[in-house]
Amino acid sequence: MTGMDNNNVLASTQIVIEEALRKLGYGDDMIELLKEPMRVLTVRIPVRMDDGKTRVFIGYRAQHNDAVGPTKGGVRFHPDVNELEVKALSIWMSLKCGIADLPYGGGKGGIICDPRKMSFRELERLSRGYVRAISQIVGPNKDIPAPDVMTNAQIMAWMMDEYSRIREFDSPGFITGKPLVLGGSLGRESATAKGVAIMIHEAMAKQGISVAGARIVVQGFGNAGSYLAKFMHDAGAKVVGISDVHGALYNEQGLDIEHLMDRRDSFGMVTNLFQNTISNDELLTLDCDVLVPAAIENQITASNADRIRAKIIVEAANGPTTLEATRIVTDRGILLIPDVLASAGGVIVSYFEWVQNNQGYYWSEAEVDAKLREMMVRGFNNVYELHTLKKVDMRLAAYMVGVRKMAEAVRLRGWV
Ligand code: NAD
Repeated sequence: MTGMDNNNVLASTQIVIEEALRKLGYGDDMIELLKEPMRVLTVRIPVRMDDGKTRVFIGYRAQHNDAVGPTKGGVRFHPDVNELEVKALSIWMSLKCGIADLPYGGGKGGIICDPRKMSFRELERLSRGYVRAISQIVGPNKDIPAPDVMTNAQIMAWMMDEYSRIREFDSPGFITGKPLVLGGSLGRESATAKGVAIMIHEAMAKQGISVAGARIVVQGFGNAGSYLAKFMHDAGAKVVGISDVHGALYNEQGLDIEHLMDRRDSFGMVTNLFQNTISNDELLTLDCDVLVPAAIENQITASNADRIRAKIIVEAANGPTTLEATRIVTDRGILLIPDVLASAGGVIVSYFEWVQNNQGYYWSEAEVDAKLREMMVRGFNNVYELHTLKKVDMRLAAYMVGVRKMAEAVRLRGWV
């Protein structure tokens, strides 16, 4: 949400949720229930810093709705985290779980902090403090956290350990995105990008564009963006542009992705090592076949949507395109694959991790990949079919597919 109107993220989500529920035949009572999370907890976490002083951090955990099953979603560490953003993100998680047909509702958490300015041990104390603060409302059958922006497998390991200590039994199913030795799943780290790559292949097939030699532009070179660039490069496409918060790199012959991956730091920063950079705005408006925003919210807006020259936009980031920009690019004939469909790969493999933890039986990477592909393609086909059948844009179609199981579960439980 850096550099954007936070109200927008939640308000625009609510507009589409309402439209989707109305199209599905639901009334005001269902809309009233599902337009906000059922629970949001705000916590203050005291952390002893390395200099001996205590700093108090603010954290959130939002749970959208648990009619389908426990809630599930990542924890974000970022200076711009705020309650409205966490709420919107929890609703998007519900939609992702609905599109992928997972037995979960959506959840999301965040802490206002800048991990780039904290030591390893300070981050450990903050992660453990957060779990102690939210322990009453989370758990393997209640709400299952995972990594998100600037959190990783090490942070998941500390959080899992803290939860297991509180409950006094080993609880690998409390959190996903863990290191392999602590019950993580093969294929989890690159799952979001793998899912996005599958969506790019499906979207290109619909538009009759071949992957070999296709020009791809990726905004953001963190977990999602860098793996995606690698997968598309390996598939024979040319990744002509990438960027990070600092700037962007462009080469019409295709960038050396493996070299860039070797050189990026753990926060997805690499362009600071180069002199010939272009701006993020120039990157977004490059002539290309597929543009993948994989950084943060509100990047494609009314101010640049009419200058976008991609044929397909695939949203790896959460909320990178505003509602107005969605309308502009859709009217211009650009095929947009919305975030709640395109970036569901992370939560799908998180679900596989949780299933493996519950069974105590672990799968091969090939098995994980095959199941991921099957779920992503099924989700794509359901959304694309509704988009063509009902003549609604891809975002509304995705929201309709994403919310219908939850609304049905709410109705059957007799809540509305
Ligand atoms: P990350 O922290 O690993 O990387 C973020 C990247 O974006 C970095 O390269 C950073 O420099 C860049 N960036 C940050 N601010 C920017 C700006 N203003 N302009 C241009 N670039 C900027 O994060 P990630 O895990 O790769 O997540 C990226 C997006 O994908 C987020 O929206 C996240 O919610 C979404 N997402 C991630 C996952 C996952 O499993 N990691 C799953 C689903 C969705």
